[in-house]
Amino acid sequence: STAKVHRLPVRAKRSSAVVTDPPLSQRIALVSGANRGIGLEVAKQLASLGVTVFMGMREPSKGDKALKAVRDLGGDAFALKLDVTKPRDIEAAIAHIEGRFGRLDILVNNAGGYFDHKGNSAEADLDNIRGALEVNLLGTWSLTAAVLPLMRRHGYGRIVNVSSECAARTICAEKAPAYRVSKAALNAYTQAVAREVQGSGILINAVCPGWTATDLGGAGGRPVAESAEGIVWAALVSELEAGTGDFYRDRARIAW
Ligand code: NDP
Repeated sequence: STAKVHRLPVRAKRSSAVVTDPPLSQRIALVSGANRGIGLEVAKQLASLGVTVFMGMREPSKGDKALKAVRDLGGDAFALKLDVTKPRDIEAAIAHIEGRFGRLDILVNNAGGYFDHKGNSAEADLDNIRGALEVNLLGTWSLTAAVLPLMRRHGYGRIVNVSSECAARTICAEKAPAYRVSKAALNAYTQAVAREVQGSGILINAVCPGWTATDLGGAGGRPVAESAEGIVWAALVSELEAGTGDFYRDRARIAW
């Protein structure tokens, strides 16, 4: 499946209204929760395409192996302390990126957690629900808010909110209520921001990676390489290939 990683999005003919996308080697990306799981794989795929990647980690001191795995692919990568629930981490991370490169082209809001330990909503612990909203919704919200001014200044940005199809109305109705509600809220947030930034060169979309074999997904899901591909596509996509304020899985639009 690594062969797929290097396949670039098919480029449609550009209209003069579309801002030219920066070359891959000039794009700067930030991936939250990049020390393991899908986030690490997204960092690897972006780096192997020549994108400079900041790998957000709650504990960078434990992230050496992940950082090395990305650098070994020949990419330029840096570990950055980033707990998305900590405003100070967010502020420092963005200031660091701005100071170093003066731009940020790609934000992958990947950090997330499951939080449901019981099956139904009546049994759910309110603290778990708060925990899910704190990371899956508010973490993405505040990191995105910090990044938008930088993207607006350059008239270019790609924001990918890693969501889950289980937030869709028709799916997974009785399972994981805290997770599902937090991702549904993330989806609504994605649509709201998309409207706000329409026409600014910034695309923001929600992407479901599909059930994936990670610590969160457990055994049996598909390999991270496959799941990350749809996220990487949305992170690199041109305005002619994708919309904004949409929900994708494997490059195809899915229902909210
Ligand atoms: P993992 O549990 O493997 O990894 C989660 C990552 O998020 C870790 O890097 C973790 O860091 C990080 N994280 C958690 N809380 C925070 C925080 N407060 N600040 C910064 N980072 C944080 O999960 P996956 O890789 O499977 O999941 C990645 C994303 O994909 C999530 O948003 C998830 O909801 C979504 N997803 C996953 C599916 C699956 O089947 N696996 C299906 C659908 C969606 P640390 O190591 O410090 O805990």
